[in-house]
Amino acid sequence: MSILSWIEDQRKIKMLNYNKVNKDDRLWTRCDKCGTILYIKHLKENQRVCFSCGYHLQMNSRERIQSLIDAGSWQPLNETLSPCDPLTFKDQKLYKERLKEAQERTGLQDAILTGTGLIDDIPIALGVMDFNFMGGSMGSVVGEKIVRLVEYATKEGLILILICASGGARMQEGIFSLMQMAKISAALKLYQSSANLLYISLLTSPTTGGVTASFAMLGDLIFAEPNALIGFAGRRVIEQTLQEKLPENFQTSEYLLDHGLLDLIIPRSFLKQALSETINFYKDAPYRKKGSISTPMINSLNLLTEEKVRRLIKFSSDSPNSSVIDSKIQQKLQSSDFKNFY
Ligand SMILES: [Zn+2]
Repeated sequence: MSILSWIEDQRKIKMLNYNKVNKDDRLWTRCDKCGTILYIKHLKENQRVCFSCGYHLQMNSRERIQSLIDAGSWQPLNETLSPCDPLTFKDQKLYKERLKEAQERTGLQDAILTGTGLIDDIPIALGVMDFNFMGGSMGSVVGEKIVRLVEYATKEGLILILICASGGARMQEGIFSLMQMAKISAALKLYQSSANLLYISLLTSPTTGGVTASFAMLGDLIFAEPNALIGFAGRRVIEQTLQEKLPENFQTSEYLLDHGLLDLIIPRSFLKQALSETINFYKDAPYRKKGSISTPMINSLNLLTEEKVRRLIKFSSDSPNSSVIDSKIQQKLQSSDFKNFY
């Protein structure tokens, strides 16, 4: 780019964005990668892919739903779930103020939209994270909404798609945000292993921290957008820890695909078609179940029977001939001497 055209670009941007405080009202933006100035209306029509270099700019959650789900079929879930401030956290600003500001700017309650809809007439459960809301950070509301979505999908036998765009756990909620990682993983375990349903995880730029360390990497199929930043810790932290220079494309989707962490990289323009074809492959899978999934060791046990089981396991593992002891205890338990105790 010549200096003259650069000056002209600057003038255009200044003039067109003058007095437009709200980011959504701007007419022009700049490609994060090649710096080309892009007219936002046309950029949106092109699903926010740069016309010049093909770079995938960030999309908000509503645009994603609009581009993926068949028109008129979106049914949101738990729309009104909103965050509170359990730690009364404050850094340069109060957490409550940050939340209010993000809610007003984005029109969202928190950093995710969940719901159900159709992709080419196939019903799915979909969760879309929104990076514009506090960097897509995962607080307790994000975790709760994902878990409720997973449980809904388990009950209804729906295919689950989660679109990740997040800086990780939300530090303002401390341990409450970290526990969401385990909570979501537990819900997904039932969904995948007990109901045998399909979970597709789509990683967009950036997917980092606690999200990468939990549900983003638990997909039966893990897809990503081209050139997306995907990692756990930041590049600088790793370089300093390992004391070595990392490759240029480290933590990009292409690097992860080469190293076996991803199944496929899909450009945004083919995403709906690719998802629809993948789901079609799966729709006749024989072992799928739906409905409430029973958790036998939890639901059926009260404290008393749990203690009985614990003792049985303890006695049998202490003895070299456990099966004999096992049956002896069983006989004892069933004998009249013990009947009154249990
Ligand atoms: Zn570009």
